[in-house]
Amino acid sequence: MKKRIHSEFMGIAAVAIIATLLLSVWVFYDLFQDQVLDDLKTYADVIKGTVSQEELSENSSFYEEADIRFTLIQADGSVIYDSKADSDAMENHAERPEIAQAMEKGSAEAIRKSETMDRSTFYYALKLDDGRILRVSKEAGSILSILKSALPVIGVIALLIFGVCVVLARILTRSFLYPIEQMAGDMENILDIETYPELMPFITMIHSQHQDIMENAKMRQEFTANVSHELKTPLTAISGYSELIKTGMASDEDVRRFAGEIHKNSSRLLTLINDIIRLSQLDAESMDVAYTKLNLYQMAEACVDMLQITAEKHDVMLRLEGGPCTICANRQMIDELIYNLCDNAIRYNNPGGSVIVKVYMEKEETVLSVWDTGIGIPKVYQKRIFERFYRVDKSRSKSTGGTGLGLAIVKHIVSQHHARLELESEEGIGTKICVYFPKDSKME
Ligand code: ATP
Ligand code: MG
Repeated sequence: MKKRIHSEFMGIAAVAIIATLLLSVWVFYDLFQDQVLDDLKTYADVIKGTVSQEELSENSSFYEEADIRFTLIQADGSVIYDSKADSDAMENHAERPEIAQAMEKGSAEAIRKSETMDRSTFYYALKLDDGRILRVSKEAGSILSILKSALPVIGVIALLIFGVCVVLARILTRSFLYPIEQMAGDMENILDIETYPELMPFITMIHSQHQDIMENAKMRQEFTANVSHELKTPLTAISGYSELIKTGMASDEDVRRFAGEIHKNSSRLLTLINDIIRLSQLDAESMDVAYTKLNLYQMAEACVDMLQITAEKHDVMLRLEGGPCTICANRQMIDELIYNLCDNAIRYNNPGGSVIVKVYMEKEETVLSVWDTGIGIPKVYQKRIFERFYRVDKSRSKSTGGTGLGLAIVKHIVSQHHARLELESEEGIGTKICVYFPKDSKME
């Protein structure tokens, strides 16, 4: 780009310089012609009154010095006197344009190229009172010859100006491109760089894309670190317990307990891996998800039925309310969504607490709400619980087998369905999570 702008600048400069110089030569030559004709007029006027054949011939040396030629012509066109040639040998001049015109109008001027082309002859003809014509003429260089002789000077001037232009073009190009180069060099602070307003939309776009990329990279890195960490804990336990068994030092009872631990930890590993696989599937398949018409109430009913035993185990009352509502969604995803929300509501509940799942319409939207009287989520954590692997109370979540991926999956599914999620929670009182499905979400 730099090269291109630079060479375009130079092209413009070259054209401008040549055009200006040629035009000035042309204007100058025009002025020069006027000047020569004016001079001739003055000469003619001065001698107009006093002219006679004798006087002209007497003063011929003076005129020669001034390089002026006089011709006196009879009204019929025959030449009476010429200061540079033998008048008797000269042909009749009645046909010459300046003579013919002067006879008619009183005066006339003409410019004719000489045979050699590089000189022009300027004529001024004046009709005298007695009807004769006085013609004054002078030879001067033609525009071509003037151009030829001025060419070296013009060339030097043009080169000098061009040199200045080259330097200016370089400086200008550099200053034009400086902000752009700066931007490329410092993506982080791209918004602080002073640049052209026309570039602002680009810059904001590049900036936000850059931030997205950075954020993505950071998230990926964090995710990998978290995954490794989460996998390490149960694996360490499994390895430790199995080693204890291997040494044969553990009593029968211990062996059974260790086996139980190994089983618990390997199940945990399995859920963890399943969740991770599910998340990466969700990440990948955002393109072609199959949507069907689903009865949300029926699906919630099935989930509540399935979780009834777990709820009883936790001494939690689990109940479904509401009525049939249809949404257009992906069956498997909605199953996971309901399951994760209900699972949390039971898991983070208190003995004797209750969970109410409700499916209903509100305005145009279909709502799924899961409300519990559990431990609640402190305000500061409410935003973060949707992050991957985030758990408010690590020990409690872990003891119940949580991986911290459930709500991350929920969030993913909600946005996939262009739905909206609202969370209301108070520590020690309970939590209510509502998912609003838009009326026409993917419904054709
Ligand atoms: P997973 O669901 O993957 O088995 P998890 O339940 O720990 O594990 P999430 O479902 O993502 O993970 O929940 C994240 C955290 O949010 C939980 O660890 C818990 O601290 C908090 N949380 C979620 N739902 C509730 C709730 N209904 N009441 C109180 N806290 C909750
Ligand atoms: Mg959960």
